[in-house]
Amino acid sequence: MRRHAEPWLAARYHVVVQDGALRLDSSERERLEADLARCVHCGLCLQHCPTFVLTGLETESPRGRIAIVRAVESGRVEPTAATLGHLDRCLACRACEAACPSSVAFGRIIETVRAGLLPARRRDDRSLDRRSHALRTVLTHPRLLRWAFAGLRAYQASGAQTALRRSGVLRRVSRRLAEVEAQAPRLGSAPFSMPALPPLPAPRARVALLTGCVMPYLYPTTHDALVRVLRRNNVEVVAPRSQACCGALLAHQGDREAARVLAKRNVRAFLAAGVDAVLVDAAGCGSAMKEYGELLPGDRDAARLAAMVRDATEYLAALPVEPPKRPLRLRVTYQDSCHLAHAQRIRQAPRDLVRIIPGVELHEMAHPDLCCGSAGVYNLVEPEMSARLLERRMEEVREAGPEVVLTANPGCMLQLENGLRARRRPARVMHVVELLDWAYREEGGPVSSGRA
Ligand code: SF4
Ligand code: SF4
Repeated sequence: MRRHAEPWLAARYHVVVQDGALRLDSSERERLEADLARCVHCGLCLQHCPTFVLTGLETESPRGRIAIVRAVESGRVEPTAATLGHLDRCLACRACEAACPSSVAFGRIIETVRAGLLPARRRDDRSLDRRSHALRTVLTHPRLLRWAFAGLRAYQASGAQTALRRSGVLRRVSRRLAEVEAQAPRLGSAPFSMPALPPLPAPRARVALLTGCVMPYLYPTTHDALVRVLRRNNVEVVAPRSQACCGALLAHQGDREAARVLAKRNVRAFLAAGVDAVLVDAAGCGSAMKEYGELLPGDRDAARLAAMVRDATEYLAALPVEPPKRPLRLRVTYQDSCHLAHAQRIRQAPRDLVRIIPGVELHEMAHPDLCCGSAGVYNLVEPEMSARLLERRMEEVREAGPEVVLTANPGCMLQLENGLRARRRPARVMHVVELLDWAYREEGGPVSSGRA
C-alpha cells in the first residue's frame, strides 16, 4: 500500500482523553457493537473514501477507523490525540456506507463515537469546548444567528472587508484567522422570508419547507426559486414559523443532546402544519431529518415526520414537474452532495431535472460524488484536508469546463464558490432548483409567486 509522509496529520492534536471511556448508554453501546461487527474487512470501501484516496493510509480509511473504534472501545488502545485525530478527519460523508456490501452503517458509527467521546474531550480541550458551546448556542437561538449575519452584512457592505483584505493586516496577525475570514460567505440579497401568497385554487399537493438555520442568509435565492417552482407546478407551499434548525451540524459534532431538542421542535412544528410532505433543499438537513426516527428512538411522531421528508429534487422529479419550454443554452456539471448521494442515495433525480431543461448540456466530472471538502464545519476545523479535496474538485471542474456548477447543498455551494473565486474561474454555482426556476422564468410567462 502507498504511504505518504503527512507530518500535519499528527502535529495538530495535543489533547488526550484522560479516562478513555466512550460515554454511551447500554442500548447505544449494543447498537455500536452490532454495527462494528458487520464489517468483514473486505476493503471494498477504501477507494470510495476521500481521506484514504488522498493519503493512502489505512488509518485514514473506513476499515482503519472501524479498527480504531473497536480498539478504543475495548480499551486495547489509549484514546490519544493522534488516535482520535484519525476519527476527527473523517468527513462523515458516508461514501463508504454506500459502497459497503455488508451494509455497515458508518455514519451512525462515527456519530455515536463522537457523541460518546464529547464529554471527556470538552473537559480536556478548551478550544473544542468553546467551539462546541458556540455552535450549540447560535444554532439553538435564531436571534443570535440573525445578529451574527447582520454583523457580517455590515462588515461587507461598509467596505471594511475589502480594506482589511487588501491591507494584509489579518494575515500578519494570524494566518489562520485570514484563512477563515477568506471563507466567509458573500451575503447578497436580503434573508429569505416566506412571502404571503394567495392560495392556489386546486393544488395537486400541499408541502412545508424547511427554511433551516443558515440557508435563509446564505442562499435565500434557492428557497425563493423552490417556492416559485412548486407553485409553477401547482403545489401549495408553507413554512411553519415555529420550525427550528434541523440539528445536523450538532449531531455530526457529537452533540446529540442539543440535536434532539431541535428535532423535537421540528416534529411538533411540521406535523401541526397538515401537509403531504416536508421539503428540504439542503441535502445535509434532509438526511438528518430522514433519520429523526433514529435520533429519537421510540418516538412515533419523529418516525412519522421522517417518513414525510423529501429532498427538493427527489420530490420535483417524482411529481413530475412540467418541462420548461424555452431552451437555456448552457454547459453545466453536477456535483453530488455527499448527504444526497451517499446518505439519501439520490443521484438520478437532480440529473433528471437538469435533463428536462432544453438546451442544457450536462458534462459529468470524473468523480462527481467524491466530497469537495465542505462537510459541515470540516473546512474550518480540518482546513488542510479540506483544501486538498477542494483542489481535486477544482481540477475536475476545470476538465468539465462548465458555465454553471450545480449541486444540492449550501455547504457544497459555499465551498465551490470559494474554490472558483480563489482560482478566478468564471463559472457560477447554483442549486439544481435554481436552474429549473431560471428556465421557467425564461419562458416569459407570469411567475405566480415568490420574490424575483
Ligand atoms: S466497512 Fe464494509 S466495505 Fe469497508 S471493509 Fe468493512 S465490510 Fe468491507
Ligand atoms: S464517512 Fe467518508 S471520510 Fe469517513 S471513513 Fe467513510 S468515506 Fe471516509
